[in-house]
Amino acid sequence: MSFIEPSFEIDTKGRVICQAHSSYPFFVMPGKTHYQEVQMEKILTCKTCKHYQVDECFFPKSEIDKIEEDRAERVSFKCVLCGNKIDRMLTIIQMLYIKQRKGIDLPLLCCICHETLKKKNFEEYYEKRLFIAVFLDLVIILGLIVSIVTMPPPYDIINSILFPVSIIMFKQILKKGFQLNLSVRDIRKGKKFYDKFFKS
Ligand SMILES: [Zn+2]
Repeated sequence: MSFIEPSFEIDTKGRVICQAHSSYPFFVMPGKTHYQEVQMEKILTCKTCKHYQVDECFFPKSEIDKIEEDRAERVSFKCVLCGNKIDRMLTIIQMLYIKQRKGIDLPLLCCICHETLKKKNFEEYYEKRLFIAVFLDLVIILGLIVSIVTMPPPYDIINSILFPVSIIMFKQILKKGFQLNLSVRDIRKGKKFYDKFFKS
């Protein structure tokens, strides 16, 4: 039985596109409207590809399902530069395909980091994120200290931790909703990876 071999390209927005995908002509269609762009984001996955649906892709249907489950449910696939969850499954599929076919370990990069590498402003992006992350961590620590020091009796624990907790939640919202990971640890780890493999 012959399989459809995927092959990949990266578009101007840093999105990995499979050239064997049944919607490939739509993905690369020039002059898409805003609505069509939104539509493309929705269907830019193996799940909408006819080759997946009839199980004739190089990656068996069951394996694609498992990869997508791991991507969506757990944080198995993270960007090596910012620590964010990879939001597009084709980025992961490309990495797995190159590993299986060529034995090359391709680093997983989210679209934002890919874009910053291309524009050569990753270090700027890193410094901005680090500054915000350190600033918010300091606000959390200061908020805790101030609320403990100034806590009047009777000690209202709930009120005193409300402010730091709300900042932590704010960081989580930024991470999930806006793909802005503000964990100082992840940011520093990503910079080390950048210095080792990408810095020219
Ligand atoms: Zn990233």
